[in-house]
Amino acid sequence: MCERVIPEDQRDEHHLVPKSKGGKKTVLLHRICHDQIHSIFTDAQLAKKFSTIETIVEDPAMRTFVTWVRNKPPGFLDAAKQSRQLFRRGR
Ligand SMILES: [Zn+2]
Ligand SMILES: [Zn+2]
Repeated sequence: MCERVIPEDQRDEHHLVPKSKGGKKTVLLHRICHDQIHSIFTDAQLAKKFSTIETIVEDPAMRTFVTWVRNKPPGFLDAAKQSRQLFRRGR
């Protein structure tokens, strides 16, 4: 998603349509990127509208995150918590 290499120990599987909604197709993402998706979108939103990587990265909040994380080294993880606060969408 962010076009960086994914180290073995940071591979996370993301269900494009959440399992709870019957989704089966998965993609591999960085743990930090995966966390970010779920902190921005609810399962309902993912199932309804954001069921492809393309639509996910088109979301302004997600795009901000991707632009930011793209310049980080692949092993970068510690700022996950911080990023969640920086890029959380106002609800
Ligand atoms: Zn996921
Ligand atoms: Zn990533």
